[in-house]
Amino acid sequence: MPIASSPTEPRNVIVIGSGPSGYTAAVYTARAGLAPLVFEGSVTAGGALMNTTEVENFPGFRDGIMGPDLMDNMRAQSERFGAELVPDDVVEVDLTGDVKVVKTATQTHYAKAVILAMGSGYRKLGLPREDELSGKGVSWCATCDGFFFRQKPIVVVGGGDSAVEEATFLTRFGSSVTLLVRRDELRASKIMQERAFADPKLEIAWNSAIDSINGDLSVESLTIVDTKTGEKRDLEAAGLFIAIGHDPRSELVKGQVDLDPEGYVLVKEGSTETNLTGVFAAGDLVDHVYRQAITAAGTGCQAALDAERFLAELA
Ligand code: FAD
Repeated sequence: MPIASSPTEPRNVIVIGSGPSGYTAAVYTARAGLAPLVFEGSVTAGGALMNTTEVENFPGFRDGIMGPDLMDNMRAQSERFGAELVPDDVVEVDLTGDVKVVKTATQTHYAKAVILAMGSGYRKLGLPREDELSGKGVSWCATCDGFFFRQKPIVVVGGGDSAVEEATFLTRFGSSVTLLVRRDELRASKIMQERAFADPKLEIAWNSAIDSINGDLSVESLTIVDTKTGEKRDLEAAGLFIAIGHDPRSELVKGQVDLDPEGYVLVKEGSTETNLTGVFAAGDLVDHVYRQAITAAGTGCQAALDAERFLAELA
């Protein structure tokens, strides 16, 4: 049970979210003596990396590290300095006043500053084996995982800019790269389309959707269905990259914190400050460009330093 707070005796800072951005914000604010209260979420404490296997691009781990181990380390590091961690969901907030109100289903907490670090969810195809084979061939991040598929057949799903970008990037690794597009045209911008058509290593399969992901321990092939004729065929694949979009988890703060048209939290340039005084945001909740563990951790650090300065000025 976390230490109680009240409107007259609010905590210094509450962090909402427990991915690399939330835990990094917790490490920094804890080391600054601010005794942060961190809501980790009830289902996926540790964030997106809890669903993956090896992480090879987080600096400091020469031989790589398993995603859940990396997150356990960050968690323990924040606890070591006095962060109070609660594996619960925040269900309601009022961030508009000087004292911020943060509610779970059973408790209400108060703080002078809040760091939003709720991340974003990768859209899924909704296929039966998609989750089970995540990190075993199924991926949502070409930058993170492309390297694992050197000289292996890769399939990318999606027709927008990010799908084309991921597919063209992956041609430097795969023995072949096939972009599956549901319709007979791409949604991607003209310049991205031109890039796709000009890439000799990229094959586009039009009117194509995935019927099933096949393989015992990892992805081996996909059954593809023609969206016009219903005809099915098997396609060899070791890597399946799903690039059909992301949904920032900003529902909680909608109507209070300014969001962009896609729902990402808006922050002042060069800072993590939102439109509300004392409310800071970090990680994939803000970032629709880089989306890496290290960038999330980096902005989590920035949010903590911004919150620290804000609290120092209040004192
Ligand atoms: P997240 O990691 O998404 O964490 C957000 C957390 O906030 C979650 O735990 C969530 O439950 C919690 N939360 C949300 N709402 C609430 C609420 N209302 N109350 C309480 N808690 C809440 N990046 C790399 O750099 N290298 C890789 O190898 C790599 N591999 C990846 C593999 C997979 C399968 C995936 C999905 C992503 C991968 N990424 C990788 C990307 C990386 O995981 C993200 O960029 C990073 O985790 C974003 O961190 P974050 O802190 O912003 O959010």
